Amino acid sequence: MEDCIFCKIIRAEIPCIKVFENDLVIAFMDIRPVTPGHLLVVPKKHAAIIPDLDNESLAEMISIAKDLDIAVRNSGIPCEAVNLQVADGKAAGQEVPHVHLHIIPRTTGDGFGLRMPADHTVPKDMSKIAELAVLIRAVNSDPPEAE
Ligand code: AMP
Ligand code: ZN
Repeated sequence: MEDCIFCKIIRAEIPCIKVFENDLVIAFMDIRPVTPGHLLVVPKKHAAIIPDLDNESLAEMISIAKDLDIAVRNSGIPCEAVNLQVADGKAAGQEVPHVHLHIIPRTTGDGFGLRMPADHTVPKDMSKIAELAVLIRAVNSDPPEAE
């Protein structure tokens, strides 16, 4: 992808602060860190969202994310916990349309958080939830783009 900013980083056309690289993925520091130590793990093959990414690249992204989760926890950077986050599409908050997994070191009171709807604390009607599960199971048993 000619104009994709992460493809440009992968091709070394623009700089990054690299932490790890192999044949399938690259990991580098986020330029606008949510907390100190915020990293991105990025598959080298361009895919905008996870459904478009091959399973080998996806598995490697998760595997390297685990290694870097452990590394961050043991790095000396303040880190009591880690958020592993993927915004999989624009409405989910994705700004860069090339799959990436955020590794965000967390400490109590760091100010970061996921904002939930006001009624999130209230359990919902289980029969309605079950109806949605029926819809998902029906498609998942015969996935349109399954590999
Ligand atoms: P998202 O909103 O999940 O698409 O996150 C995109 C992330 O990419 C943001 O956290 C940005 O700060 C980060 N980002 C954008 N451009 C660069 C860059 N050139 N180098 C490092 N991180 C970047
Ligand atoms: Zn790309």
